[in-house]
Amino acid sequence: MIDLEKAQEYLDFGYSKTKVAALLGSHHNTISRLVNGGKLEIYEAFDENVEPRSKLGSCFYEENHIDDLLRQAAESPVILNERKDNDYYDVGAYIRNEFGSIKSFLCIQDLEYFLDEIFIKCGCDKLFSLADWYEDKGKLWGLSSVCPSCRGEISYSYVKRNPEKIFNLNQTRRTKVDALLTKEEYKEVRSRFNWKCAVSNTGNCITLDHFIPVSWGFKCHYSENIIPLTKGLNSSKNNRHPVEWLKSNTSVRITGRIIRILSGLNNLTQGEFLSFIDWCFDNKGMFVDDPRFPIEIWREYTGREFPLPSYVGMDYSNEVTNEKQAG
Ligand SMILES: [Zn+2]
Repeated sequence: MIDLEKAQEYLDFGYSKTKVAALLGSHHNTISRLVNGGKLEIYEAFDENVEPRSKLGSCFYEENHIDDLLRQAAESPVILNERKDNDYYDVGAYIRNEFGSIKSFLCIQDLEYFLDEIFIKCGCDKLFSLADWYEDKGKLWGLSSVCPSCRGEISYSYVKRNPEKIFNLNQTRRTKVDALLTKEEYKEVRSRFNWKCAVSNTGNCITLDHFIPVSWGFKCHYSENIIPLTKGLNSSKNNRHPVEWLKSNTSVRITGRIIRILSGLNNLTQGEFLSFIDWCFDNKGMFVDDPRFPIEIWREYTGREFPLPSYVGMDYSNEVTNEKQAG
C-alpha cells in the first residue's frame, strides 16, 4: 500500500505523478487513481488568467526564463550571453519591448542587486556586470552590443586602473539601499517555498508579495513578511486580509502550510499568528509613523510575552534612511 502522506508531500513539492510513483515504487496510474478518487491533491494554478503563449501579452514563458536566470544568479554570478539559445533571443526581445532593458526590469522589480550578479561577455572577451554595461533600448535585452571599453566610453587606462571592476566575478556586493530585499533574503524567501508560488505551487511568473499589505501602514518590508506569488494571485490578493484571502482562494492545507511557516518565522503559535494578523487588519493606518515592526507593536498592545523574532533585531531602516539623506 502506498504511503499517502509521503505521496502528498512529494506532490506538494511539485513533483510529477510519474516522479512520485517512481519515488514510492508505485505506478503513475496508481497515483492518478488516488488523485481522481480525491485521496491525493494536486495544486494547480487558478485564477491566473494567463494567456497561452501563442497569444500576445503572455508573460508566462519569458518571465519563467528570467526567474530561472535570477535563481541561478542568486547562487553564483551568471554570464547572460553564454546562455544563447532560442530563448535568449525571444526573452531578450520581450524584455526590450516590455521594460526597455533588463536593467530597468530589475529596478522595477526591486532586484537591483542582481545588476552585480549578471555579467555580459563582450566580443573582446572582457566581462562586465550589468551595472557597468550600457543600455541601448533598441537592442536585444535593451543592452549595448559591445562593452563600455569597446565603445570607447571607458578608456583602456580605466580598464587597467580598475581591473577588479571588470574582471573579478566576486566583486563587492551592492548593499541593501533601495532594493526591497538583499540577495540573501531573496534566496531565503524563494527557497522557503521551494522557488515556487506559495499558493499555486507553480513556478510561473513569480512576484514577491507582502503578506501584511504595505497599504495597511505598518513597516512591512522584511523578508519574513514576504511570500512568492504568481503575478495573477498577487494582484488578486492586493490589500485584502491575507488569511481571509487564502481561505477563499485555496485549500485548507495550503492555507495551513503558509500560516505554519509564517507563524514560525514570527515566534508565534498559529493561533497567535492569526490573532496578530487580525489585529493588524483592525488597526490599518493607525501606526503609519511607528518605526517598529508590527509584531513589536502588537506584543506591546496585547501585553503578550514571547521572545521577539530575530528579524526585529536586524533592522536596516536607519541605515537606509541615512544613506538616502546622504545621497
Ligand atoms: Zn569589448
